[in-house]
Amino acid sequence: MLTQPKDLRTGRSVWMDTRVPTIPTKTLTQDATADIVLVGAGISAAITAQALASRGHKVVMLDRRPPLSGSTAATTALLQYEIDLPILKLKAKVGLERAIRAWQRTRLALDTLADKVGALNIDCDLERRSSLYLAGNLLNAGQLRREAALRNRAGLHTDYLDRAELRSRYGIDRAAALLSFGNLTANPLRLAAGFLLGAQRHGAEIFSPVTVAGVESRDGRVVITTEAGPTVHAGTAIYATGYELPKGVRRTKHRIGSTWAIATRPQPRKLWPDQCLIWEASDPYLYVRALPDGRVICGGEDEDFQDEAARDALLPDKTARLEEKLGKLFPALDTKADYAWCGNFGSTPSGLPTIRRVGDAPNILAILAFGGNGITFSSLAAELLVGMVEGRVDIDAGLFR
Ligand SMILES: Cc1cc2nc3c(=O)[nH]c(=O)nc-3n(C[C@H](O)[C@H](O)[C@H](O)COP(=O)(O)OP(=O)(O)OC[C@H]3O[C@@H](n4cnc5c(N)ncnc54)[C@H](O)[C@@H]3O)c2cc1C
Repeated sequence: MLTQPKDLRTGRSVWMDTRVPTIPTKTLTQDATADIVLVGAGISAAITAQALASRGHKVVMLDRRPPLSGSTAATTALLQYEIDLPILKLKAKVGLERAIRAWQRTRLALDTLADKVGALNIDCDLERRSSLYLAGNLLNAGQLRREAALRNRAGLHTDYLDRAELRSRYGIDRAAALLSFGNLTANPLRLAAGFLLGAQRHGAEIFSPVTVAGVESRDGRVVITTEAGPTVHAGTAIYATGYELPKGVRRTKHRIGSTWAIATRPQPRKLWPDQCLIWEASDPYLYVRALPDGRVICGGEDEDFQDEAARDALLPDKTARLEEKLGKLFPALDTKADYAWCGNFGSTPSGLPTIRRVGDAPNILAILAFGGNGITFSSLAAELLVGMVEGRVDIDAGLFR
């Protein structure tokens, strides 16, 4: 089998109770052909499918689950250009020039995502938000000051707030924080549904449920075999299988762990100024965002293991821990969880995604949009993959292999 099925998530995320457009799907009863086959119909596949279909490629998507019911249904949807690894730390892994370029390109990908949502008229509560990065056990005040200098040098405007300023502006008691601008929030299911419907308007077809058993590159084409029998022939196959890792993709540095999230009841009058995204330079870390109705989402508490039964058993404890940490940050909030959920979560030591060819095959490509910027990286992947399919060389492709 191309990927082992996993229990990707448990519990009900807040998006699952919002109105999301229905995505028409088809049953694969006979062999089919396409220019490009995407394995997966989550947000990574959705953005790439729309980009390819709108440029005239015949796109087919195959998913073993209904569209958007993998990890995309569990995300908390802080859409940030700020990579998990600050420039200060990333430069030690890839060099300063490449670290800065990775941050700049991720920022561009986020802006492109916002522009496309506007152009496609996707109704997904998309909002621009600034973001507050709090000092913690990974970066202290001095390191945050140096990180601010690097980001500003990269053209990514960032303010350094000391303890007094942080307390007076946000009521948060920490040694320091960075305030940056231009991140996004959205309802991820409506966002992804908008891209899937956009792809379908250009002729893309979604077949579900279809489990892809194998993909073979033969005579310049790909042959995709499915568990149910029919075969799909295409020019290119793209794996967008999320945290169900495809065979053949080198993945020594990719890790799958577990993560937890809660959403409170609506309390619009108790929210912090400008409802910026809040995250911290800590391990384990915490992040917070608000929803348009005044709910507060708080997530984190990540663990390195991928044992789904153990992950689910920890849901009550982790919920209580998130409620407590959120209460420490904002004592006036009612932090009791109205929603609590958990899921698998992929990361890489650099915080960067993998967007590349699989092995030696020229026409099998993969997106491993790992890390806290998974959705921003899905947007980046669409840009790079369209280039790869059409034979254009993207100057940044080497950063994300
Ligand atoms: C709790 C939580 C919070 C998160 N918070 C954020 C956040 O704030 N910001 C952010 O950017 N990211 C966040 N993420 C990460 C984000 O959710 C992921 O990056 C994103 O959802 C991945 O989308 P995807 O399309 O790659 O994967 P998925 O949505 O899982 O889609 C992959 C699809 O591939 C299909 N598939 C796999 N193998 C096969 C096969 N062999 N045949 C057919 N189909 C197959 C699966 O059925 C699945 O539907 C979070 C994740 C979690 C769990």
